[in-house]
Amino acid sequence: MNVTRAQIITRGLTHCCPNCAAPTLFRRDSLFRINPRCDRCDFAFERQDDEGFFLGSMSLNYGVTIMGFLVPVMFLAFFNVISVKVAIILASVGAVVFPALFYRSSRSWWLMNYYFFFPHHLPANGGDGRRGEGRGD
Ligand SMILES: [Zn+2]
Repeated sequence: MNVTRAQIITRGLTHCCPNCAAPTLFRRDSLFRINPRCDRCDFAFERQDDEGFFLGSMSLNYGVTIMGFLVPVMFLAFFNVISVKVAIILASVGAVVFPALFYRSSRSWWLMNYYFFFPHHLPANGGDGRRGEGRGD
């Protein structure tokens, strides 16, 4: 295997292409738009027939927002470190801002998660990218 799981994790944490490690996952002219393909190796990040793939990244973003931000704010208020009023303001603002700030990472982490479990699907490892369900793979 040319690309190891450790490399897939490193590339996912740094928002790089899981196939060739180029920093091409996101468009340079936009904060939130993912490139459809890698500029260096032509690896398809998004596929026409697999539109729901990145819904998992939204679930990941939601979970991290709750467990990484909202629950700690709730505990700070519960143990009287901050007032309830401050906690409500923090939670209200954070529930909008935190997912936006974590958006790029959630996309990259979701891609990393997929190829961590299916590294043989990477073209660099002899695969042909993500495969659809029901096709025997
Ligand atoms: Zn690439």
